[in-house]
Amino acid sequence: MNNEIHIYNSLKNQIELFKPIKEGEIGIYVCGPTVYSSSHMGHARSAIVFDVIVRFLRQVGYKVNYVRNFTDIDDKIIDQANKLNSTSTEIANKYKAEYIQDMKNLGCISPDHQPCVSENINEIIELISVIIDKGHAYSANGDVYFDIEKFSDYGKLSNQSTEAMLSNTRIELNPNKKNDLDFALWKNAKPGEPSWESPWGKGRPGWHIECSAMSCKYLGEQFDIHGGGRDLIFPHHENEIAQSECISNKNFANYWIHNGLININKEKMSKSIGNIVNIKDALERWNKNLIRIFFLSHHYRTPVDLSEEKLIEVEKSLKKLSKKITQSKADKSDDFEKAWKKCMSDDFNTAKAFGIFFKYANEGKLSLNNSKNLEEFENVMGISGWRDIISENKNIEINQIEIESIISERNIARERKDWAKADELRSKAEEMGVTLIDHGKNTEWTIKNQ
Ligand SMILES: [Zn+2]
Repeated sequence: MNNEIHIYNSLKNQIELFKPIKEGEIGIYVCGPTVYSSSHMGHARSAIVFDVIVRFLRQVGYKVNYVRNFTDIDDKIIDQANKLNSTSTEIANKYKAEYIQDMKNLGCISPDHQPCVSENINEIIELISVIIDKGHAYSANGDVYFDIEKFSDYGKLSNQSTEAMLSNTRIELNPNKKNDLDFALWKNAKPGEPSWESPWGKGRPGWHIECSAMSCKYLGEQFDIHGGGRDLIFPHHENEIAQSECISNKNFANYWIHNGLININKEKMSKSIGNIVNIKDALERWNKNLIRIFFLSHHYRTPVDLSEEKLIEVEKSLKKLSKKITQSKADKSDDFEKAWKKCMSDDFNTAKAFGIFFKYANEGKLSLNNSKNLEEFENVMGISGWRDIISENKNIEINQIEIESIISERNIARERKDWAKADELRSKAEEMGVTLIDHGKNTEWTIKNQ
């Protein structure tokens, strides 16, 4: 390998020189979505971050085995199925297909394996049996719980005390548990829920065990990189470590990479605030390359504030840049290649790499004459074709008075928390070629960019 790569390892909270377990090869597991509703821009950011990490590792010569799971058995899926008078399989399949399409539309490469929980029940049951045999879990009334008292390293990833763990998260209280922090490996079947036969009776797996089982199946009991959003550190990743390490007595993943979360117009993106931006809606409004460049111009560990204004700003600079590149007559630019790769080797700093890209393009050092240089950068960032697509907004004739009246009607619906009505009015505006952007209680509108 030409490049020495340094990674910020969340397990140790420090930058470390990356050394793969097997020379030249890397196994990477990233926690994928729970498929109970449309995926949003938080999912998009995480997917783009790991997409670029995998692309870069391959570009410098590693053989990468990239695994990302689907959680297709979960309370949220069951709730959604009950609400819509559907089955959890139908709900999960619908949103799984939608996610795969969203990823394609965002220009993300497919992982080498995309396993689902429902296809790995035997592997999960086997793993739970081993954990029980080793004395790290107990069954109680058809449930099986991991006994955290028996794993002395519990808390090593989130680096917090038991008291903090209890107060920082919503813990499911259950009389079957010995300790409130014990977590379910297997859940006793409830009427109307999907269930499978097991040594502990009919039931279904808990959330965390699936990732221990699927990562082990595709990457072995010890592998190089485990990724996911920051919000998964506790309890999900902490519990994955406990389950896997009590079996193998080895480090589970050697490097943990966690991406920062996103805010929408400076507010946390959440269902209760009603400001979730779906990937599908975002892609109707914005080109995928613009979305990628916007996310990648932030370091993956920092939070990102997503707003219409910021996307417009990036779009404007890209238009200027595209012109500069087309007009420049510069020849080969070796130092550009060295400079951006150095940034990427330093904890995948795409923000700095894009800084270099903007600087070189602005100084006229990047041109279509040295397109090989340019293409290599574009391939790693997954933004090939951005120069053709960044185009002027469409001119559409808009009836301003009608739009304003839709906005005020919608704001009344939002105040009443009538999200269905608010969504319906948003769609009405969309049909008129207009996108509505919420800033707290106020709403602005812009012409949709096709
Ligand atoms: Zn996971």
